[in-house]
Amino acid sequence: MVGSAIERQLSSCSDVELILASRDELDLENQSAVTAFFARNNIDEVYLAAAKVGGIHANNTYPADFIYRNLLIETNIIGAAHNSGVQKLLFLGSSCIYPRAVAQPMQEDALLTGVLESTNEPYAIAKIAGIKLCESFNRQYGRDYRSVMPTNLYGPGDNYHPENSHVIPALLRRFHEAKVSGASEVMVWGSGKPYREFLFVDDMAAASIHVMNLDDATYKANTNEMCSHINVGYGSDVTIRELATEIARTVGFTGEVAFDASKPDGTMRKLMDSERLFATGWRPSVDLQTGLAIAYDDFLNGETREA
Ligand code: GDP
Repeated sequence: MVGSAIERQLSSCSDVELILASRDELDLENQSAVTAFFARNNIDEVYLAAAKVGGIHANNTYPADFIYRNLLIETNIIGAAHNSGVQKLLFLGSSCIYPRAVAQPMQEDALLTGVLESTNEPYAIAKIAGIKLCESFNRQYGRDYRSVMPTNLYGPGDNYHPENSHVIPALLRRFHEAKVSGASEVMVWGSGKPYREFLFVDDMAAASIHVMNLDDATYKANTNEMCSHINVGYGSDVTIRELATEIARTVGFTGEVAFDASKPDGTMRKLMDSERLFATGWRPSVDLQTGLAIAYDDFLNGETREA
């Protein structure tokens, strides 16, 4: 989802030549294939947005996939980039790298100060390893490998799987199907009380390109060599209950919203402190209401394609 959004934005830049490979053409978990891809192509910069991702249920159910496959992707790409002389790389992490009981909003230097949220700890460990891989290549070899930590993302190209997806695509599907079938109630997981911050994927792509293009002095003024990552958030959050109400409105579902307490809430709040990024002159431009309408259109287009 993020890679496609970055591709959409970079493809309109006249001074950029994109080097792309689909999942069928390049298996990022295969080290020799990744090494050969870097050897074959003359690459200056790498956006590392690829990852095995999923929502709270998927993270809880497939922990081995989430740690193992993400470590493979990161080590293969970052290692091959370094070995083939690529000087600039941007690694995309996740807000779940921060401890469960951290002060809100979460600042970059809260990393590794406490115990992680158990539902996604394996994924978080892989993402922390990615940040530390980048920092270590910078410290030992003078590379310029930067990291951005997105908050919860949504938008075109999302995964709308009913169980394994994140909350926005899952609820877009559930509320839509309830509307179509005439159901009187939609069940939302957990208590509805956790807060989440959501960023539209095109904003994330723009922030990624912005951070990649920051001059060295500005990047270094806002980071340090042992804390090189930058948070990318929207700046405010909503409760899951508020989100569900907004999604019902977007979809046009007029029935009841109910909560299934047997499903996990996950962490209660994970609002990013994005001041480091905002201080460099970037701000998000798509609010939740606008973004949800675009995401719902994307879901409907996917339904039409599949039909
Ligand atoms: P998280 O931010 O890593 O916890 O990722 P999720 O997007 O999976 O979940 C965010 C919050 O939404 C959690 O509190 C979930 O319990 C809640 N939620 C409510 N309904 C759903 C649903 O249908 N799917 C998912 N994934 N989460 C849901």
